[in-house]
Amino acid sequence: MYRIALASRPEGAPTAENFSYEAAQIPTPGAGEVLVRVHYMSLDPYMRGRMDDAKSYAAPVPVGGTMEAGAVGEVIASQSPHFKPGDFAFGMFGWATHGCLPASHLRKLDPAQAPITTALGVLGMPGFTGWHGLTEYGKPKAGETLVVAAATGPVGSMVGQVARLAGLRTVGIAGGADKCELATGRFGFDACLDHRAYENARDLRTALKQECPDGIDIYFENVGGKVLEAVMPLMNPFGRIPICGMIAWYNAGGLGAGARDQGLTAPGLWRNILVNFLSVNGFIISNHFDRFPQFLQEVAPKVLGGEIAYLEDIAEGLENAPATFISMLGGGNVGKQIVKVI
Ligand code: NDP
Repeated sequence: MYRIALASRPEGAPTAENFSYEAAQIPTPGAGEVLVRVHYMSLDPYMRGRMDDAKSYAAPVPVGGTMEAGAVGEVIASQSPHFKPGDFAFGMFGWATHGCLPASHLRKLDPAQAPITTALGVLGMPGFTGWHGLTEYGKPKAGETLVVAAATGPVGSMVGQVARLAGLRTVGIAGGADKCELATGRFGFDACLDHRAYENARDLRTALKQECPDGIDIYFENVGGKVLEAVMPLMNPFGRIPICGMIAWYNAGGLGAGARDQGLTAPGLWRNILVNFLSVNGFIISNHFDRFPQFLQEVAPKVLGGEIAYLEDIAEGLENAPATFISMLGGGNVGKQIVKVI
């Protein structure tokens, strides 16, 4: 088998040298364990955080350790009565061709129900994140206006579509004219702005103001940076901001410094939260999987029925995962980034 290990910790943006592609022994499953041949692996922005040694909500990947990832594949050996060879499963198998985990850590998949790749995106962690963050903290109401960036990614596209189905005006923000067209075409956003087309937050704000004539009630925070700065003064009283991610700063090497460079001062932000009575909720989805069955029950029929669209960007080959990951952090992906491992 092969795996990709963290070779060194990045300073700023990761480079190919931070990863090493290595041969390894295929593990033998012990009692209660299941061995899986990975078919598809997920690449997600959170993996950038795992490469750092900083204090966080999750332990870093140790240098020399296999990079963390959710993946789906076929069971090839099992010491558990719950899985047999030929079954398909999702698990945290890492950046690797094979993974061996206790059966209790796996989720069985039925390829006849939905393509197994959907367990990595629209019907997996990212889709669930969008649905949970919006319904739990966004508290959408018909007639309101929602803004979300990374609008064509698996989180943003779920947020936009669930909000639209709830009767909101949805304004996406995405990188480039093609992604904006995807946002309004495939994902049904009422409007989409290209954040790269605006030199500064003030210009982006002017454009946003036009697309949000009644102000913004929900800003689903995926990116931070220039977008946050543009949005904040447009928030309506009693607005809600689920804080999901801040990818614009993941490579900044210190959020404080990154934020200051963007002209976002703590006093300005704080004042906005105060005078507009905003509800700001950070959340980490791994703490909320008790709602996952409800998510699947509500959302899977809409995905399978075509009411909620999704898009996957599938790169070929485990050895290409580092380059694909680096590209994704800068917006190189179009839809949910997946790697086809076999
Ligand atoms: P995406 O597939 O949307 O990929 C990331 C996207 O971020 C890029 O494609 C790019 O889109 C956008 N981006 C990158 N840099 C910038 C920038 N400087 N300014 C604006 N946009 C930028 O990712 P996901 O849908 O998987 O995740 C979206 C967010 O949700 C991330 O911040 C992620 O960390 C967070 N997240 C949080 C979770 C939680 O538990 N809180 C769980 C899952 C995800 P574009 O080209 O359109 O700008």
